[in-house]
Amino acid sequence: MRYGGFPCRYGGCDVRFSVERGDSYPSLLEASAKRTEHEIAEHQYHHVPLRTETPPAGSLQRLPRRGAPKRID
Ligand SMILES: [Zn+2]
Repeated sequence: MRYGGFPCRYGGCDVRFSVERGDSYPSLLEASAKRTEHEIAEHQYHHVPLRTETPPAGSLQRLPRRGAPKRID
C-alpha cells in the first residue's frame, strides 16, 4: 500500500506532505504537523477538526464498569 501523504486542506492547493514511513506513527504526526504549519504560513488557514474521531455517543457509556465498588448502605 502506498501512502499519499497529507494533502493541504486549503481549497485549491495541491501541496502534499508525504509520510516517510506510513506504518510509523511519529512519521504520520510529523507529516501532519508540517501540513498544518504550511496551511497557517501560506494560507492563514486554521483547520478545525471535525468530531468524527470520537466514538458515537453511547458507545463509551455502555462499557461495563468492572471493578467499580458497589455501594453498600
Ligand atoms: Zn496549501
